[in-house]
Amino acid sequence: MSKFDNVKHRIPINEDNYSIRCNDDLCKKCQLCKKACTNIAGVLGTYNLEENGDNAVCINCGACINACPFNALKEVSNIDQVKEAINNPNKKVIFMTAPAVRISLGDAFGYPSGTNVQGQMVAAIRKLGADTVMDVTFGADLTIMEEASELLERINNGGTIPMFTSCCPGWVKYCEMYFPELLPNLSSCKSPISMQATMVKTYYAEKMRLDPKDLFVVAVAPCTAKKAEVKRPELWAGMKSQGLNGPDCDVSLTTRELAQMIKEANIDFNNIEPEHYDPFMGRGTGSGIIFGNTGGVMEAALRTAFFFAEGRDMRDDEMPEFWPVRGLGFLKEAEIKIAGKKLNVAVIHQMSEAQKIIKEIISGDRHYDFVEVMACQGGCAGGGGQIKILKKPLQEEAKINRNNAIYEIEKKSRIRFCHDNPEIKDIYFDFLDQPLSHRAHELLHTTFEDKSFEIKGKK
Ligand code: SF4
Ligand code: SF4
Ligand code: SF4
Repeated sequence: MSKFDNVKHRIPINEDNYSIRCNDDLCKKCQLCKKACTNIAGVLGTYNLEENGDNAVCINCGACINACPFNALKEVSNIDQVKEAINNPNKKVIFMTAPAVRISLGDAFGYPSGTNVQGQMVAAIRKLGADTVMDVTFGADLTIMEEASELLERINNGGTIPMFTSCCPGWVKYCEMYFPELLPNLSSCKSPISMQATMVKTYYAEKMRLDPKDLFVVAVAPCTAKKAEVKRPELWAGMKSQGLNGPDCDVSLTTRELAQMIKEANIDFNNIEPEHYDPFMGRGTGSGIIFGNTGGVMEAALRTAFFFAEGRDMRDDEMPEFWPVRGLGFLKEAEIKIAGKKLNVAVIHQMSEAQKIIKEIISGDRHYDFVEVMACQGGCAGGGGQIKILKKPLQEEAKINRNNAIYEIEKKSRIRFCHDNPEIKDIYFDFLDQPLSHRAHELLHTTFEDKSFEIKGKK
């Protein structure tokens, strides 16, 4: 008998799930979460509890939370841990907000969907008690420096191709469980949040003359899967490199949790004076911001790969080559020329759809050099930790508005290319040496594991 037999109306959830939980008192047995887990996450229906050791398989994506009309399903809350750190005089609390949070947070305060509330968000986080507020676009720029270099290295030196992006923890877990044969294809780059947290616990701590043990790093992400990602010990390289144990990123809050904290603290979000991110390691480029959209990582990585290979930035009239990777289609393909070589690239999102394309790549029916995969619908802009919109037409409208808002921010950004971020240049000059250096590998890259036992059960 399965321990989940008494909750057959809803998705099963393991007790140690780092991302999602259910309050069964609120559950109305509508089964919409099961539909989301099947049709969006592509997980429910792919495993048998009787055969896999009664393991509720999950990629932590939060699609079920977004589908639950009665708020029975929620993220595992990390708010108390954050408050405790803020109230601890010995801790310096550093918030880092991911690109897509700023275009969803406003939904919780009555703004039209897709409104960019970056300045108010930063001010509100300082009012909550953060000592420093950083933009994860900095980490995104760093990720691109490493990922574009890795792509060129694989292409020029006969490495494993296609290379798949690895900044989405939902996709990484899916790959580890369902497609372990593709693990050598996954970029070894850590996600922007994980890279930035590692740099905070090392480079930032060194520059600011702070003890990394006294730093408490809080990511705010549109994502419930980040809560599980930050628990992966293979990502704790910053602490480990200094003989310390513990995570580089201490906790990850969702956009919803941030909204809850702001409301509970009675901060007048709608009238707060906008503020800027902290300057040191706190700001990124336009290419970093588009990480929030499906296709954004691909576009940012190719812009920088172009620069590395050609020795010059892509001109505006060359940019339209990238347009096919924009938009909300489930499969977007483009052929891009870099240093005389044609690269076939693909962008896929929403795991249930993406896995169909991936199977065709494995079977040899499709050939690409570089593939971006995001687990959520529309990428992080439609992430499982964003402010919930339950009405279908409004959901569709929000998807489009959030997607457009991110490209609007990109258009207005002062610096567009990751490799032009002066602080990124400094961090390589002062600390990391060059992309893919020994130190960069030690701190910014990671490993993956075959986790197919989660589906099949341990032998
Ligand atoms: S978080 Fe995603 S994979 Fe896990 S139960 Fe919910 S929908 Fe399914
Ligand atoms: S969507 Fe929510 S209310 Fe409906 S069955 Fe699932 S947990 Fe229960
Ligand atoms: S698409 Fe973005 S929000 Fe969704 S699981 Fe991946 S990283 Fe998280």
